[in-house]
Amino acid sequence: MTRKPARLGLFGGTFNPIHYGHLRAGEEVAEGLGLDAVWFVPAALPPHKAPADLTPFEVRLAMTKLAVGRHARLRVSDIEGRRPGKSYSVETLRLLRRELGPETELFFILGLDAILEIQTWKDYREIFTLSHFVVLDRPGFPRDEMEVVLRREVHPDFRELADGRGFEHPGGGRVLWWPTTLMDISATRIRALVRAGRSIRFLLPEGVRRFILKNRLYR
Ligand code: ATP
Repeated sequence: MTRKPARLGLFGGTFNPIHYGHLRAGEEVAEGLGLDAVWFVPAALPPHKAPADLTPFEVRLAMTKLAVGRHARLRVSDIEGRRPGKSYSVETLRLLRRELGPETELFFILGLDAILEIQTWKDYREIFTLSHFVVLDRPGFPRDEMEVVLRREVHPDFRELADGRGFEHPGGGRVLWWPTTLMDISATRIRALVRAGRSIRFLLPEGVRRFILKNRLYR
């Protein structure tokens, strides 16, 4: 890394495969929050996903790189493939915090479905002291629940921001709502369509679609 980014977004996920729901959200968050970069960070061994369904890390990484291409601000990081065992976000964030130092503000990007289960993540309370969160709306999940979960599971003293854009942890970390184009696309559905021999065109970049078909993934 030559110059340390002042505002860095981290978009963790299984990306099995990456699709337009992820990509467009990354683009809109990067632009809207004025981030220097957003890194897509595929999990090598996602703690919450069934291993039977899991495509090898290198393959998911390759599809993610294919999707992002040579984008000015969006990047792909293999950081979670460089350590053994389950890919816990808290460990990635600790590492980046150490490497980048306090000048870099981190923004962990995740969907509403994911933050509603935050209490199942390893050392989840610590994550709120390492990074801000940016929460993407996801069709079918209850928005009002987030505040309840934050106060019940993370800290009772979360304060609502004056502009209504989210909440602030007593330690200063923010959980921001970021309105992005709603897309009811999931990787689970894409895999099911491939398995059923149906079209996945226009749900994800064409290069990734071709890669999936050529390599006979998800059959
Ligand atoms: P799966 O269906 O296999 O569970 P997924 O499509 O939810 O996968 P993940 O790789 O698990 O994709 O998601 C990574 C992150 O992106 C999660 O925080 C998830 O909430 C978010 N996300 C996934 N799809 C969308 C979408 N269509 N819109 C907004 N956020 C999304």
